Amino acid sequence: MKIRNRLNPSNPCFSFEFFPPKTPEGTANLLKTLEDLAPLEPGFVSVTYGAGGSTRDKTLELVARIKRETGIEAMAHITCVGHTRDELRELLSRLADAKLENVLALRGDPPQGQTSYEPVEGGFRYASELVRFIREEDFNFCVGGACYPEGHVETASRDEDLRRLKEKVDAGLDFVITQLFFDNAFYFDFVERARRIGINVPIVPGIMPITNFEQVQRFTRLCGATVPMRLGLQMERVKDQPEAVVQLGVAHATVQCMELLSRGVPGIHFYTLNKSPATRMIVSALRARS
Ligand code: FAD
Repeated sequence: MKIRNRLNPSNPCFSFEFFPPKTPEGTANLLKTLEDLAPLEPGFVSVTYGAGGSTRDKTLELVARIKRETGIEAMAHITCVGHTRDELRELLSRLADAKLENVLALRGDPPQGQTSYEPVEGGFRYASELVRFIREEDFNFCVGGACYPEGHVETASRDEDLRRLKEKVDAGLDFVITQLFFDNAFYFDFVERARRIGINVPIVPGIMPITNFEQVQRFTRLCGATVPMRLGLQMERVKDQPEAVVQLGVAHATVQCMELLSRGVPGIHFYTLNKSPATRMIVSALRARS
């Protein structure tokens, strides 16, 4: 199933993002997480692509396994980091051979120890080049990309970032998924500005329920997302009480999702960090409401 056909404001789909575990125990835990989340009937799940080495093969193995063994549509993320176009062609062929129909095409972050992104010789500098390549090579994938309601960390301005997104969409994207955000105002403003410049593909909000405040502070520092002051202060107050952090994180994300759904989003993508309880609580509450 092509994900673009599942993104529909009158029947929004919930999707879950995982990362490939490093150990067999981690994989067993992830399969258990998937089992816990399967009754929520995800529209699709996605698996991130690491910085290098064996975790990259694991992405491919995992998406193929999820689709084969659970029947849930599974999408691989792929990045340009460290890859030539020949390697990317081979990677895409392997995904197509495994009957996978969707791919999230990304540039990727600079590898550890590098301050800026540099393509390898024969590789791509921007995700838009990868998207164009997928189209030119006639792969029959439904292709998603990343976008940034608060602006990408490297960009000079949000408007510049949005213009670059338009180029990426025009290169052949079917939908985009946002970077995590905790204040819906960023998303609504972003969608409005995107529509104004002719970006017409579905824009799926990415939501991460906070379950560990220090970890989220680390992420947001890296990806440039903002924690609203009020939420930050509330989290500071309970940060040494793990259960209270989860309750607050779940409550905040549930309210965010309810507002997003009431304003007609085509789906919601949950950054699960391979754990099910918080996402399960939120999606159960959302389903009970509809
Ligand atoms: P691009 O779209 O190429 O943008 C990168 C920067 O270049 C932006 O600042 C943009 O404004 C600028 N730019 C684009 N085109 C041009 C141009 N022609 N000239 C000048 N500037 C330009 N990372 C991983 O490593 N693995 C993952 O699995 C992964 N999954 C992700 C999933 C989602 C939903 C999101 C939102 C992010 C994910 N990331 C992942 C992180 C992502 O790789 C980084 O944010 C990366 O820094 C940018 O990737 P991109 O595809 O958005 O790049």
